[in-house]
Amino acid sequence: MQMIEDVGKLGAALAALRAGAASIALVPTMGALHAGHMALLAEARRRARHVVASVFVNPAQFGPGEDLERYPRRLKEDAALLEEAGCALLWAPDAGAMYPSGFAAGVDPGPLGGILEGARRPGHFAGVATVVAKLFNQVSPDIALFGEKDYQQLLVIRRMARDLDFPVEIVAVPTVREPDGLALSSRNAYLSPAEREAARALPEALQEAARAIASGGEAGAALAKARARLAAAGFDPVDYVVLADAGTLAGMRRLDRPARLLAAASIGGTRLIDNLPLAPPKVKRR
Ligand code: AMP
Repeated sequence: MQMIEDVGKLGAALAALRAGAASIALVPTMGALHAGHMALLAEARRRARHVVASVFVNPAQFGPGEDLERYPRRLKEDAALLEEAGCALLWAPDAGAMYPSGFAAGVDPGPLGGILEGARRPGHFAGVATVVAKLFNQVSPDIALFGEKDYQQLLVIRRMARDLDFPVEIVAVPTVREPDGLALSSRNAYLSPAEREAARALPEALQEAARAIASGGEAGAALAKARARLAAAGFDPVDYVVLADAGTLAGMRRLDRPARLLAAASIGGTRLIDNLPLAPPKVKRR
């Protein structure tokens, strides 16, 4: 595996990979890699000849007072994991390479970037969309893989790729979880043992709400119960637990089309997000 930190050297390395029209998959990450990232790598290897991974803690997607400074950085360990996973090229720019002095342009993610996570983290999805657009232009991948763990991010990227005609197929990979259900996240490292134990309430509350709604229960009541369960487990604040259209994230009251249950809540100052798919019940034909 080749590691490149200088944008000037990226083109030649990619040209060598592309020889003979070999396909390239891109897996963008912020590093501190875990089994969730590795699932993206494995799927990328199945779908393309070569895998390019990026590791970049993108300052533009962190708001003031968020965890940019303390976000875990482990480039050496990440490089070893990527090499082992069969990654061909690690693109690891620093902030100066990504945002040279005078950098001013950006991608407006549109309305999808302003709701849920976007409402709580103003500018977050503009930062995400801009850096992913840059990565797409830098690497020109045939496909790019994103985790359903960050479901709204996945939809924002899909919308951007479609709207701006990026010639890249966006592939979604299901969320990888710990045995107790907690979604893997680089931010789980912030949790104390007690917080980690309590955090299992997040997937449990979502699963319980999903079961209630799927079996015909009233969505409002199921969501309120999930919020109460999170609060009882020590989450504070519980930012949202919502049932939303799987394609637009518009709020839903009844399960009459493919939906997603999405939640965001903080425990001991660590903000966690999670989501689950929910399919409408099949109508029985007579
Ligand atoms: P991050 O490094 O957190 O920016 O994540 C990089 C990519 O990995 C994103 O597409 C995430 O959605 C994805 N990802 C993070 N955690 C998981 C997980 N537990 N399961 C699947 N994909 C994940």
